[in-house]
Amino acid sequence: MGDDPASVAYVRGKARKAAEVGLRSTVHALPEATPQAELLALIAQLNADPAVHGVLVQLPLPVHLDPQPVLDAVLPAKDVDGLHPVSTGHLWAGQPGLRPCTPAGVMALLAFYGLPVAGQRAVIVGRSALVGRPLAALLLNANATVTLAHSRTPDLGAVTREADLLIVAAGRAHLITPDMVRPGATVIDVGINRVPDETGQGRLTGDVHPGVAGVAGALTPVPGGVGPMTVAQLLMNTVLAAEAQQAQSPQP
Ligand code: NDP
Repeated sequence: MGDDPASVAYVRGKARKAAEVGLRSTVHALPEATPQAELLALIAQLNADPAVHGVLVQLPLPVHLDPQPVLDAVLPAKDVDGLHPVSTGHLWAGQPGLRPCTPAGVMALLAFYGLPVAGQRAVIVGRSALVGRPLAALLLNANATVTLAHSRTPDLGAVTREADLLIVAAGRAHLITPDMVRPGATVIDVGINRVPDETGQGRLTGDVHPGVAGVAGALTPVPGGVGPMTVAQLLMNTVLAAEAQQAQSPQP
């Protein structure tokens, strides 16, 4: 909804990637002033449409709308963003279900590079519903010993230096400096921050200081790294949701 430039760019990227892998995607771009009832009616229509297997509400919503009832309105079976309370419940109960895309993308990235998780001391900086919390559940389900740090954590460096696996999702450019990282640790940088540059347009950088590359055993870049994994996981969730819905009501 509306014309937030970052949201418009994200939606365009998702639609492009969907087309690349052969998924049909439809963008319902609503004006910023659209009343909540109208948005909920559209979600109800998509929930009821058997040709639609996934519904994603691009956040943030305009300030006049309350996001929670909107996210709650998405049918859990079509919750490809994995943010519905039913999906959250399945995740924390260790049951199968649709997982939030960025945390699931982090897990896929770790698996692809064969980086160990089970038995590792994992520290996540950030406790949002979007990244930190669901990632804690995924790492726990994968048998890591998990610590969640946040803005009220005293002596953050003492906590992050404990980590074999350090995942940073704070939205603070270069928050994590080399002295805060245990030598050889795996560092996953989820943060995306726009900082001033000489062009005046700003450039993207992560939550991890570039100097950490000299200390870490492995480090994800920003841009790149986790960002593309988020979109890949959205496509994966859509396929999983479609398969589950087909299994529920087989096509003739
Ligand atoms: P939120 O702002 O919702 O949460 C940030 C979290 O970081 C909060 O828990 C906050 O603590 C904590 N935090 C903030 N400052 C500090 C600090 N100085 N020390 C310790 N903890 C701190 O952000 P999101 O989780 O939505 O996103 C985090 C970052 O990840 C952003 O840069 C965002 O752009 C990026 N992102 C990237 C994605 C991708 O695809 N790569 C997808 C989603 C997000 P508290 O709870 O106490 O306030």
